[in-house]
Amino acid sequence: MDDHARQSTVRPARQRGIIIDMEKTNLKALSEEDMREYVSELGLPGYRAKQILKWIYEKGASNISEITELSKPLRESLAEKAYISSLKVADRRQSADGTVKFLFELEDGNCVESVLIPDEKRLTLCISSQVGCAMACGFCLTGKGGLKRNLKAYEIADQVIAAMRGAAPDRITNIVLMGMGEPLNNLEEVAEALWRITRLIKVTARRVTVSTCGVADKMLELPKVAPQVNLAVSLNATTDEVRDRVMPVNRKYPLKVLLEACRNYPLQKRRRITFEYVMLDHVNDTTEDAQRLVKIARQVPSKINLIPFNEFEGCEYKSPSEERVLEFQAVLQDAGVTALIRKSKGSEILAACGQLSARAGAYSSS
Ligand code: SAH
Repeated sequence: MDDHARQSTVRPARQRGIIIDMEKTNLKALSEEDMREYVSELGLPGYRAKQILKWIYEKGASNISEITELSKPLRESLAEKAYISSLKVADRRQSADGTVKFLFELEDGNCVESVLIPDEKRLTLCISSQVGCAMACGFCLTGKGGLKRNLKAYEIADQVIAAMRGAAPDRITNIVLMGMGEPLNNLEEVAEALWRITRLIKVTARRVTVSTCGVADKMLELPKVAPQVNLAVSLNATTDEVRDRVMPVNRKYPLKVLLEACRNYPLQKRRRITFEYVMLDHVNDTTEDAQRLVKIARQVPSKINLIPFNEFEGCEYKSPSEERVLEFQAVLQDAGVTALIRKSKGSEILAACGQLSARAGAYSSS
């Protein structure tokens, strides 16, 4: 990301209202530029900004006293004026397949969830961009509770730091914004968070994926504010009739508009958009759907992730049989379309796609 792009999207911290302690400055709420300004306001040399950022983002310091690269008197005087917020781990669940679900409590008492998913080669962290979600997709538990609020950039990036502290000191290789919320509805804070995750925490941008339900006009903004990151689009249906029904966002951005945005999306060389396709029994899983999906996939450099629906209590949808999922995949593959079945992880701890709700109730049973 070049400096020009950054300056155009990130307003100073004070304007964004993120100095949350009346008396003390939250160092984690500061952008890199804010930090440089803050350090110079304190009369400290510029390299202190870099040191502090390194301790917060690379070493996960959650207290100024931990920044031992600063002298003790300096730490003490800094601690009189500033502090470092950190997410509180309100709960942590591990499932048999190694998936870890964190319930993080924010400073205002709201909660969000993040899920750490290990597989042979990767350690992927799925993070949230909002408390709740306004998009109301019929198959998603997060959408049932509506939107509470947007997350601040530091609350998004902090999920990575907290997961590293809590479970993965051996480093997270991939980040996906597929937790709670619609990232493109909170793009300014998401862009700043992505800057911190890639530049300060140092996760390679090519290993970061932003997933959208299809907010078509904002999709084209993403590469301007967060170049290099991958885009995933939750397609989930192949006709407007079905998509209108399962994803209300389709009434505003129907398939024609969404697919045009996908075609116009400036992909880097050898990169593809990922289409996610949640498979709902007898809703979007017919052979005709698979054939229409082939046509869609041929319009856009893309690959398809088939996600068998993860059921939750009170939901009207069911997961198709394994046989149906494999047949559906075969239609795509036979037509030369890359289609993987995303194995569900962590479903017994309600950590799988669409099962995040951050409700206390989801944690109280065991
Ligand atoms: N709002 C963003 C990111 C969050 S949802 C988006 O819509 O892409 C992440 C993925 O989980 C989406 O692809 C969504 O379609 C899928 N999903 C939601 N509920 C699900 C469920 N119950 N079972 C399986 N996948 C689900």
